Amino acid sequence: MTDCLFCKIVRGEIPAKKVYEDEHIYAFEDISPKAPTHVLIIPKKHIRGLKEAAPEDAELIGRLHLVAAQIGRQRGIEDGYRTVLNVGPKSGQSVFHIHLHLLGGRDLNWPPG
Ligand code: AMP
Ligand code: ZN
Repeated sequence: MTDCLFCKIVRGEIPAKKVYEDEHIYAFEDISPKAPTHVLIIPKKHIRGLKEAAPEDAELIGRLHLVAAQIGRQRGIEDGYRTVLNVGPKSGQSVFHIHLHLLGGRDLNWPPG
């Protein structure tokens, strides 16, 4: 999508601190981190959000989580991190290109707000 912020990041049109990239997935530091590790993991394919995902996106959604686990291992935060998909405006979703938040490196409260 031409006017999508995260598609622009994938294309290199907007700068981001890249953490990981492969054929399908791109991961970068959140610009406003809420924890010592706060990485956003996205599919290169534009999918608006979880509720818009189609059955053929199942593998991509799995890949998001596996990349989160890999980054968690690399960062040494396996004593406790969280993956979050905000879905819809009432959840706080503000960018409508699906993105998995990886948050860790500090104690995380439960339930989340
Ligand atoms: P959400 O509220 O779940 O839609 O998450 C969107 C996230 O994108 C927020 O945590 C923002 O801080 C982050 N964000 C917005 N713009 C940028 C950007 N240009 N680079 C990196 N992260 C961004
Ligand atoms: Zn997009």
